[in-house]
Amino acid sequence: MLARAYCAGLDGVDGYLITVEADVRRGLPGLTVVGRASGAVGEARERVRNALAHCGHEVRPRKQVVNLAPADRRKDSPGIDLSMAVALLACHEIVPHEALESLMLWGELGLDGVLRPAVGTLIVADCARRAGFRTIAVPRASADEAALCPDLRVLAVDDLPSLVAHLRGEEPIAPHQRAEPTDDVALDGPDMADVQSQAAGRLAVEVMAAGGHNLLLHGPPGVGKTMLARRAAGLLPSLQGDEALEVTKLHSLCGRRPPRSLWRRPPVRMPHHTVSSAGLLGGGSPARPGEVSLAHGGLLFLDELPEFARACTEGMREPLEDGEVSIVRANYALRFPARFQLMAAMNPCPCGYLGHPERQCTCSAASVQRYQARLSGPLLDRIDLVVPMRPPASMGEVPQECSADIRARIEVARARQRERLGATGFRNNAQIPTDGGAMESLCPIDDAGRSLLVQLATARQLSPRARDRMRRVAMTLVDLHRSGDSVNASIGSREVAIAGSLRRLPDLQPGT
Ligand SMILES: [Zn+2]
Repeated sequence: MLARAYCAGLDGVDGYLITVEADVRRGLPGLTVVGRASGAVGEARERVRNALAHCGHEVRPRKQVVNLAPADRRKDSPGIDLSMAVALLACHEIVPHEALESLMLWGELGLDGVLRPAVGTLIVADCARRAGFRTIAVPRASADEAALCPDLRVLAVDDLPSLVAHLRGEEPIAPHQRAEPTDDVALDGPDMADVQSQAAGRLAVEVMAAGGHNLLLHGPPGVGKTMLARRAAGLLPSLQGDEALEVTKLHSLCGRRPPRSLWRRPPVRMPHHTVSSAGLLGGGSPARPGEVSLAHGGLLFLDELPEFARACTEGMREPLEDGEVSIVRANYALRFPARFQLMAAMNPCPCGYLGHPERQCTCSAASVQRYQARLSGPLLDRIDLVVPMRPPASMGEVPQECSADIRARIEVARARQRERLGATGFRNNAQIPTDGGAMESLCPIDDAGRSLLVQLATARQLSPRARDRMRRVAMTLVDLHRSGDSVNASIGSREVAIAGSLRRLPDLQPGT
């Protein structure tokens, strides 16, 4: 007698439907699993066999076969356990077949039939919803996470016997009610009001947050680069609908703490420069997302950028360009989303004091060149804002604008971008491609602005791509600082001049 149950496999942050077919017939008692199951699922055989013995009913010794379809995709999560056990119980006619028709099953079984959480619950729940399932049964500890998915009935299950009783109609489990959301996190981080006399740095983080741009701050130690970075996160607008679900799915996969509410605040990641390329970009076995993916929808701050291994900085070119990373293995490839904003900081030279008004730089010209050459042109080319920070002239305390006021301006600028970009699929100015005709229609510029842009590009020998980056930044400045109904306002020479001042590479030679 053949029975079917359903669960899902994980492919990056996407799930795909797995049909579990079970068959039981006379023969040598045992359990065989086929369908490209990896080692972890092979062990499921033992867990399922033992759990069946504790299901609360007598299971007669038979030859049992489980097939996991589709056979061409690998399955490596213990979350498949529950669906295998239930499919077998249907074969043994302990649970009715029709009870499994619109039911997704997800959870790892203990030897005694207790159900344990498996990572990726939210991804599986989202897959169930997309595939048209109405109900998902998960371990109780994962129920809040599964319930983040709209339009899905969630059954919180303690162990196999209680699920069997539910499916037999003996003791129905009531649908799980999620403890009410604390979706919105209070913004209580450090405030921009603390940052004294760093006008260029302050403007740079505001423009970065408003237009979705990448930012590199350079300057001697102690001028407040890290201080600004810590405050930049609080300026980013909250995540919207699908974006919030996608970010939460990623964090569900990392499994450190199952998410109980949707991520509304953009994540912030600050890996140390000793991070491995697998840690930064993703990898390991089974493959896990790296810092670039954990920063998806938020901010990745890399302090001391030239100190990162070359494999790390070069590997970031793919996610910076495509918004995702691929992890290629001998027999499969995985993709994780990685659309983050890069914020980086660096000293101008190894000792840190190149160009300092009072301290002397002790580095040789060759060592300065080697240090700065660690950042490749293609990487720098993907950073719109490159801003020098200098030691403050006076230490007097002047009241500075607070984060809440700056954030209000940023929200207005983002709303203008959404309106202008409309159905193009781009979420902010930084996503407008620098090649093709999009620039002309989406970043309109007046004659004075255009001639200044050409002038600047010629004087600095900018590539067409770098020139277009400057134009996108100028567009963000328009969105931020033009008042009134200026959705269709175009870039003028003033914005071009400011955008020019927000892209200054570090000086190459000592003493220049
Ligand atoms: Zn130096």
